[in-house]
Amino acid sequence: MLEQGAIDALRAIPVPDQGHHIDGRQSPAETGEVLDVVSPIDGARLCGLASGSAADMNRAVRSARAAFEDGRWSKTAPAHRKKVLHRLADLIERDALELTVLGVRDNGTEINMAYKAEALSAAGTFRYYAEVIDKVYGEIAPTAQNILALVHHAPVGVVGAIVPWNFPLMIGSWKIAPALAAGNSLVLKPAESASLSLLRIAALAAEAGVPDGVFNVVTGPGAVVGEALALSMDVDVLVFTGSGATGRRLLNYSAASNLKRCYLELGGKSPNIVFNDAPDLEEAARVSAAGIFRNSGQVCVAGSRLLVQQDIHDDFVSALCAHARAFRVGDPLDLKSQIGAVHSLTQLEADLGFVETAEAEGADLRTGGQRILEETGGYYMQPTVMTNVKPTDTIAQREVFGPVLAVTPFKDEDDAIRIANSTEFGLASGVWTENLGRAHRMIAAIRSGVIHVNTYGGADLTVPLGGVKQSGNGHDKSLHALDKYHDLKTAWIQL
Ligand code: NAD
Repeated sequence: MLEQGAIDALRAIPVPDQGHHIDGRQSPAETGEVLDVVSPIDGARLCGLASGSAADMNRAVRSARAAFEDGRWSKTAPAHRKKVLHRLADLIERDALELTVLGVRDNGTEINMAYKAEALSAAGTFRYYAEVIDKVYGEIAPTAQNILALVHHAPVGVVGAIVPWNFPLMIGSWKIAPALAAGNSLVLKPAESASLSLLRIAALAAEAGVPDGVFNVVTGPGAVVGEALALSMDVDVLVFTGSGATGRRLLNYSAASNLKRCYLELGGKSPNIVFNDAPDLEEAARVSAAGIFRNSGQVCVAGSRLLVQQDIHDDFVSALCAHARAFRVGDPLDLKSQIGAVHSLTQLEADLGFVETAEAEGADLRTGGQRILEETGGYYMQPTVMTNVKPTDTIAQREVFGPVLAVTPFKDEDDAIRIANSTEFGLASGVWTENLGRAHRMIAAIRSGVIHVNTYGGADLTVPLGGVKQSGNGHDKSLHALDKYHDLKTAWIQL
């Protein structure tokens, strides 16, 4: 049970300036440059952050390579790595509230959600891959009798990981945990505006017994340190979560350097489809509102397009707007808030810009559409519902990544499928119907990495998360994620 007093005590602690974490130590940027970290809670400066250069990144990659080659981690028994990663999970749980408050001050996610989805989920992820790794077996191939063909799972070497500002601990640990469990070394590049809690995880990893150089964090602008990581000749695999625009650049950097494998987890414009035979329309409205507005819509799988069958459209939209208006938006460190801050002023302005564009293209603003609580200095926006959105409108095609829902009516199943599949994205989707046959037809027809039926947004570590089309080409979570961090190596032995 979270207590307001404990949260308030932690939020009052000043945050010192932060350096990179390279070779087991905090280290400033070689140039001495520092970025200002601004809290979206009140728009005030929170601390300074090392603004890395290519030289800093190359130093981190060299450290990771040296650690990999001398085997201080890569050649340890899986049972040893399991023990260390369990210890790391213990330390994350020990410091869960501190980590959460730090992360919320950095990126503005509401604390009840952040505590579970960030710190506790990160601990769970380290435990999951700790438990898995000493159960991964190689193979003996069914070859001719005079041949013994073995298939080994070898660590890939140096993994570069670039992660976004939403849910940095959760998404970061989806990459760090399997990469380390498999015996790789890692260089992590967090988002400039959500680095603080991941730097703490690196310090906790060192405390848990991850050797120096195995897990490095380099902070600073994506276009500088992210680019240097992606262009490095000494990084074997790049794992990325973020926007499609950056994902495209990474593929170019890979082509221009050493053809490193790039696994991309990108954006979405996920359709949430409500048929008139949904089992409980009131529940569908409540869950659909949460499915777009929690964390101010800054969730990759957010159900940002609501498709509603024509004959229930008006009643359903009214119910949904009532839920949208009922959310308590405010200080993300206040336990009573249900939605926290928009992550940055740039993001807030972009969100408001999408509303303006939607109105200019003929959509109706049904609720929200405004910045609120401006007097706090922070970045807050009302949950916003736009109706009468055409499938080709900007707001139906482009990812907003804000608390803005685009509603479009549809006639029948075929119409719903056509509209649902009419974007470049394919990350998530939802279908509400009590017709089992229809549910299965929709599961088959909708092109998305995950489809929710009669709910929206549920998931856990046991199932993969990844997109199709331009939502990406990799999967985080589950046993499948381990494939990204292993090479298959065949030994062909003549007997
Ligand atoms: P972004 O692409 O702007 O930034 C992501 C990361 O890439 C940051 O660390 C950034 O510094 C770095 N970066 C930026 N330019 C770079 C460059 N030229 N070279 C190398 N690195 C660079 O994305 P964002 O705004 O931080 O995150 C939001 C996006 O992430 C949304 O599109 C969202 O849908 C997506 N996302 C996807 C998933 C998923 O699982 N598919 C999960 C969460 C977020």
